[in-house]
Amino acid sequence: MPGVRAFMPPQGILTIAAYLPKAWEVRFVDENMGPARTSDYRWADVVMTSGMHVQRREIRQINELAHRAGKLTVLGGPSVSACPEYYPEFDFLHVGELGDATDQLIRHIDEDCKRPDQQIRFATNQRLPLTEFPSPVAPLRSLRPYLLASIQYSSGCPFTCEFCDIPELYGRNPRLKSPEQILKELDTILERRPQGAVYFVDDNFIGNRKAAMELLPHLVQWQKEHGYPLEFACEATLNIAGAPKVLELMREACFYTVFCGIETPEPEALKSISKSHNLVKPILDAVRILNSYGIEVVSGIIMGLDTDTVETDERILDFIRESQIPMLTINLLEALPHTPLWRRLEKEGRILPEENRQSNVKFLLPYPQVLGMWYRCVRETYDPQFLYDRFAYNVAHTFKNRLEVPVTSARLNLRNIYVAMQILARLMIRVGVLSDYRKIFWKMAIPALKKGDIEALIHVALVSHHLIRFTREALRGEQGAAFYSEKLGSTAKPAEQT
Ligand code: SF4
Repeated sequence: MPGVRAFMPPQGILTIAAYLPKAWEVRFVDENMGPARTSDYRWADVVMTSGMHVQRREIRQINELAHRAGKLTVLGGPSVSACPEYYPEFDFLHVGELGDATDQLIRHIDEDCKRPDQQIRFATNQRLPLTEFPSPVAPLRSLRPYLLASIQYSSGCPFTCEFCDIPELYGRNPRLKSPEQILKELDTILERRPQGAVYFVDDNFIGNRKAAMELLPHLVQWQKEHGYPLEFACEATLNIAGAPKVLELMREACFYTVFCGIETPEPEALKSISKSHNLVKPILDAVRILNSYGIEVVSGIIMGLDTDTVETDERILDFIRESQIPMLTINLLEALPHTPLWRRLEKEGRILPEENRQSNVKFLLPYPQVLGMWYRCVRETYDPQFLYDRFAYNVAHTFKNRLEVPVTSARLNLRNIYVAMQILARLMIRVGVLSDYRKIFWKMAIPALKKGDIEALIHVALVSHHLIRFTREALRGEQGAAFYSEKLGSTAKPAEQT
C-alpha cells in the first residue's frame, strides 16, 4: 500500500505517551519503521521504550544507545512486565499496566531525571481503570504509515489455555472501556486517515460476551452515521460461532475478519492444552458459521505439541484444505514465562536455551522431525495456487455474505479511488508481471476486473503477495518458526493468542 511502513501502531507505548504530563514534550519513534536517530537520542532527556520478548535484542540495543548519549532509560510493556529479570541494564523498569507505578515514575522524573546509581523498579499495584485510559491515537499525527489502525475495548481473557500468558498478566475478568470512549477513539482514528481496517486488539473480543453485545449496537450506529468508512477485525475464541446475536451485529458493524486461535484440528490435542472451548462445535462447522456472516477466519496453528505424531503435518494440511482458511500463522510451540506450560515443562526439564533452535521447548518428537513438518506445512499452505484457491472460495462463499453497504462519500471518494488505483497498478507490475506466479494471479484478476470487484481483487492479491513473500523468506531461514522466539527479531508480529 502506498506509504505503508508498519503493520499496526503500538497501543501500549502510545497510551503511555498520551498519559504523560502535557508539559512534557514527547517525540514518538516507531522502530518498526526505522531506528531512532542519534539526533533523537541527543534531543531527549529520558528514553522510554517498550516491547515484546521477541524484541529483546532491540530493546537492549536502545538502552545501550541511550546510555551512550548519557540519557536516563525507562522500560515498560509486556516483556519487562512478565520478566523484569531480563533487563538489568535499564535505569527504571515499569512493571505492569498503566497505574500507580506510572504516576510514581512521572513524579520521580519530574523531580530528578539523572541516571540513578542502581536500577529502580516501579510496579503497578493499582491499575488505572480502562475507562480512564487516554486515547492512544491522540499522539499520532497520521495513520497513513500503518497497514491497520488499532483500538482496544477490553483487556484480559476468562480462559486458561496452557501456553498463554494473557490470563496471568491481564486477568481472567476482562476490564473494559466504555462504548462512548470507543466511539470517540474511532472519531480520532477517522481524522487520522487510516489506510485499512481497524483491528480490535482485545485479547478476546468476546471474553465478556455481554460487554461485546453492549458495544456492537454503538458500532453499527456509528458506521451508519459516518457512511461506513471503516471495516473491523478482531481476535476472538472460536466459540463465537455459538453466539448468533453477536455475529449478526458484527456483520452489521462490518467486521470482515476474525482471528481465532484454532491451534490444532485434533480434539485430543485441544483438550491437552486446556482449549476445549474450541470444541463447542465441530471446528469446520464453526468456521463455516463465521463465513456465513461474511467473516473471513484467520487461524493460529501451533506445532510441536506433546500430542503431535508423525501424521500431524498431514492432518493440519487436510484441515486447511477443508476449512479453506486462507491465512494462518503456523508456529512452533514456545513456552512463555507465567504460563502453566512453562511451569509443567520446567518441572519436566524440557525448557531449553534457544541458541540454534527455533523454540525453547524440548519436543516429544525429535526436533528435526517437528521442524521438518513445520517447513512442509508452511511451504504447502502458501503455495501460490493453493492460497489463491482458498481465497477464491472465500470470495465466492464468505465475502458475498457481507452487509451490502451504501455507496457513500466516506467510502467512494477521489482520494480512495486514487489510492486503490495506485495499489492496483503496483500489484499488476509486481505480481502480474514480475512474479513467478503471474498466471495464477491473472486467472483470478481477469474475472474480478470484468465484474468490477476491485476491492476483493486488491485484498486477495495484496495479502497473498505478502504471505508468499514472507513464507519464502521463512523457508530461506530469514524468518523464525515461532513468532514468540527471540530468534525472530523485530518482525511485526501478528496476533497469536485467542
Ligand atoms: S489463547 Fe486466547 S482464549 Fe486462550 S487464554 Fe489466551 S487469550 Fe484466552
